[in-house]
Formats: sequence, structure tokens, C-alpha cells
Amino acid sequence: MTAREAAAVRVSLPPSALPSTDRLLGTPQARELERTHGRAPVADAARAVLAALRARALDGALDVEALAPPALDAALADAVRRRVAAHLRPVLNLSGVVLHTNLGRAGLAEAARQRLMLTAEGAVNLELELANGRRGERDDVIETQLGRLCGGEAATVVNNNAAALLLSVAALARRREVVVSRGELVEIGGSFRLPEILAAAGARVVEVGTTNCTHPHDYAAAIGARTAMLLKVHTSNYVVRGYTASVDVTTLAALAHSHGVPLVCDLGSGALVDLTAWGLPHEPLPAEALRAGCDLVTFSGDKLLGGPQAGLIVGTSACIGRLRRSPLRRALRPGRLTLAALEATLALYERPETLARELPTLRILTRSTAAIFAQAERLAPALAEALAPGYVVAVDAMESQIGSGAQPTQTLPSAGLTCAPTAPRARGRALEALAAALRGLPTPVIGRIADAGLHLDLRTLEDDTALLGQLPRLREALQ
Ligand SMILES: *Cc1c(COP(=O)(O)O)cnc(C)c1O
Repeated sequence: MTAREAAAVRVSLPPSALPSTDRLLGTPQARELERTHGRAPVADAARAVLAALRARALDGALDVEALAPPALDAALADAVRRRVAAHLRPVLNLSGVVLHTNLGRAGLAEAARQRLMLTAEGAVNLELELANGRRGERDDVIETQLGRLCGGEAATVVNNNAAALLLSVAALARRREVVVSRGELVEIGGSFRLPEILAAAGARVVEVGTTNCTHPHDYAAAIGARTAMLLKVHTSNYVVRGYTASVDVTTLAALAHSHGVPLVCDLGSGALVDLTAWGLPHEPLPAEALRAGCDLVTFSGDKLLGGPQAGLIVGTSACIGRLRRSPLRRALRPGRLTLAALEATLALYERPETLARELPTLRILTRSTAAIFAQAERLAPALAEALAPGYVVAVDAMESQIGSGAQPTQTLPSAGLTCAPTAPRARGRALEALAAALRGLPTPVIGRIADAGLHLDLRTLEDDTALLGQLPRLREALQ
């Protein structure tokens, strides 16, 4: 091509040169896209493609090649793909937070995933007793399992732990008072603020004690004719250090019962087995709280328990009975998929000796630092090659957090890969660009930017190939 011909090609076309929507939708490829994905997304994509081309024409930057049939076909196919791609997809959580709320918390065990598949398709005996043909309770199975694991008389399940607390307070303390320590009026991740949940449940909060110290006499002085319950909340995501005092569950239960009111305990994460057996920090067990005299204990299904999102409530038959009779329970009840996954997850707890192998959350939390370091050494050269020349990669010691409010101040020694830009200037932008490229992969990779590097904590990467297989794409994206 001569210089003159090249200049002629670069002349911008006017908007009037654009094809009509109908012409764009009339090609064999567009018809095929419509058959696969439906008319509406394809028509929407066609309009978006034309709008983008029109904008380029008005900018004086629309060359003739952009309107060639292959280019139009490719642009349309791409726009359709972006519109029909599933929003919710698997990602690799290498953020260093094992139970990350924004990333869906616990992954399910193989047994739970299989049970989901089995019970998802057709009808199931959700509220039917197969032995006698009578109507059953949807959480009958869970109640038996939790009875064995926690020792409570009765149990029920709702959508999440926030719902568990809402239901407990609404059923036991509507239009009456809930006594709670000022040191326990927690906010968890912005959308969960204890005082707001209590208000939404129709109860009045009576705060006792101070931020750092609450004594038995503070509770005693606050209990009156309008008191419906005492509430103890596990301060999951922070600790108060120094001069502190709080009242233990045993003392609080005795106090509550001497006034004829129940004690409800929100354990937050809770753990069904003592995690110190695996060298992990101790998290309070529902069984311990019940033994200490709690009437109701609530905890999450998808935190340390390692199951689906759910709110579990264990306690006395009398209190659980009142919860079951509340109209709110109908609004907060879990679906069959949740119950199926929960039943299969709880069944794993019947064999604690295989738990660290079968339950992904525990398997990940108990991975040895040496194994994670070896993995980092194994992956570093391939990642370095994919990121060169813009970034360098180093194997580093890291600290994983359990996440979801469990053990906020204790971390687990881990290892991973730190990616740092080679050019000293515009480091921030280079790191953002790398984070965006990682998020743009077919299985998006989520790292953490801190201290002038992008960190990939490998504790949560159980399968090397999930990262290795995507490195060619990453390399392309950074070219
Ligand atoms: C996480 C947490 C909750 C909320 O549980 P969800 O299952 O997310 O609704 C409530 N209370 C405490 C103390 C928590 O740690």
C-alpha cells in the first residue's frame, strides 16, 4: 500500500455509512446468535455495537475496516457474549482471607455438592414423613443431627445468622426489652448492626455497662418487669484489650433464670468441634454455650462450620417452639437446597477424624505452611514468566486470616507470591492494571494490594492448575 492509499483508508466515515440495526441483525451469524441466546440480548447487543460505532464516527475515527462484515460479526458476537455471560461464577480467592464474605465464604464439601445435585432436580420429601405419610417439619433431619452434635433439646434453621437473631428476638422479645452489654453492640460488615436488628425485631435495647467493662450487677440493675431476655453476642470481629470485664455465660444464665427470662447467645461463627485439636485458635462451641445454661444459641452455616449460608439455632424445646410459632419463621425459612447441603455437611461431623480431609474450610485452614511454601516455589517461575517484563515475582511469607469475624487478631502463617511492578513510577496504576488483568481471567483471580505489591496468598489454592492453566491468557492480557 502506498502512503496515499494508507491515508485514504484512514479517512473517517460519516455516521450515515453505518448499517441499520436490521441489516446487522439480518446476517446468518446474527440469526445463529438469536437461536442460541434469544432475540432480546442480540438486539440489545446490536444497538450497543452501532452506538459505539456512531460515537467513533462523530469523533472522526471510524475507518472502513470497522464496517467490514467480519469486523461487525466479531463485534456483535463479543457484545452478545458479554450480555449473556453468567454474573455469578467461580473465582480463585487468593486474598488471604479464607472465609471472605464478598467471595461467598465457605466452599462446600464434595458430599454436600453431590447431595445438592441429587435433590435439585425433581420432587423431594421436604415436609413429608416417609415412614407414615404424615406432614413433616422441613428441619427435622437437621434437628436430630444438631442434637447429637451440640446437645440441645431442639433446633431450627433459617436463612442466615442475622435472620436467626431477628427471629429469636421477634419471637421472644417483641414490644419488650432486651438487655445487652454496651461492649457487645457490634457492627459486622456494615449491613449487620446489632442495635438495628433488635429494633427491626420490634424490641427495645437496654444497654448495660460500658464499652470495656460490664459486670453482673449492671445486668441485674437493668432487669425489670419489661425485660424479655438477656442477650450475649460474641464480639467476632474485634477485641477489647487492657482493662476489661465481661460476664461469662454461666453467670449470665443463672442471673437470667433467677428472673425467669431466657438467655440468648449469638456466637457468630461458632464451631461445631474444638478447633484446637488441629492446632487452630479456639472458637466457642454451641455445645459449650448450651452446657453453660444458654436457652438459645445462634450461629452461621457458612463460616467455620463450612456449609451453605444458613442460620442455625439450637436450644430448649420451649424456646425453639416459640420460634417455630412466629409468623416470621415462614419468611426466613431456608429452601431445600440449603437443607440438603447442610444435612450432608453436618453428616461429616459425625466422623471428626476425616473432617480435615473432607471439609474444604478445615482442609484449607490446616494446610501446613511448609506445603504452601513449596507450592509458592513451584508456581513462582511460571508466574514470573507470564508477568515479565512489567512485574517481578517473589515468594513471600504471608499471614492468612480466617475471616467472617472469626479470630480477628490471630492469623495463620502462610505463603504466597508477591508481584511488584519493575518500573518505579506509577506503581499504583501498574498494580491496579495487574489486579484488573487477574480479575479479567476466565476464572477471575482475586489478590490483595498492599505495601507496593499485589499479594496472592496460596493457602486457598488447592489446585495449581487452576492458576497455571490461565497464565497464557494473563500474559496476553498484559501485552
Ligand atoms: C457473622 C455474624 C453474624 C451474621 O451472620 P450471617 O450468617 O452473616 O447472617 C451475626 N453475629 C455475629 C457475632 C457474627 O459474627
